[in-house]
Amino acid sequence: MITKGNKLYSIVGMKCPRCHEGQLWKSPLYQMKLYDMHENCPVCGLKYEQEPGFWYGAMYAAYTFSSGALLIVMLVTLLALKWELQSVFIAIGVTALIGFTYNARLARSFWLNLVVDYNPNWKQQNVEREKRREELRKQGINPDEVSSLTTPTHHGYETPGTSFIGK
Ligand SMILES: [Zn+2]
Repeated sequence: MITKGNKLYSIVGMKCPRCHEGQLWKSPLYQMKLYDMHENCPVCGLKYEQEPGFWYGAMYAAYTFSSGALLIVMLVTLLALKWELQSVFIAIGVTALIGFTYNARLARSFWLNLVVDYNPNWKQQNVEREKRREELRKQGINPDEVSSLTTPTHHGYETPGTSFIGK
């Protein structure tokens, strides 16, 4: 069984890769809103776009996934089912249309899961991080300008001005 804590659970289930609870997407798939994504995880606060331009890489993943899926459809209909060429092309076209949104979303989910791991202690991590931010504020330093608190290597940073402590 693929359950919480397993990477496949968050990739295929389109969940936040850090807490495996929050959803990635605001709208259900059938509404066909391609990139209708939460900015932060609604549960743990992870910022999904790890850095500016982060999603460009996901486009390559999407291209790879769709090529693979369409190739499989072609091979199955052509070789296993022995359909005529015209029907094969229709099957490929229909698959591409139906799978387009899912594929694009799956690619982003996959891409984010490559760099962010499951962390069941995200609450504690948030608390410790907020302590460090508070200490910096007391010293008159803007924590949002401290790279260790804003860069993607510190997974789980929230958008400046928002706090996810106590959720
Ligand atoms: Zn989360």
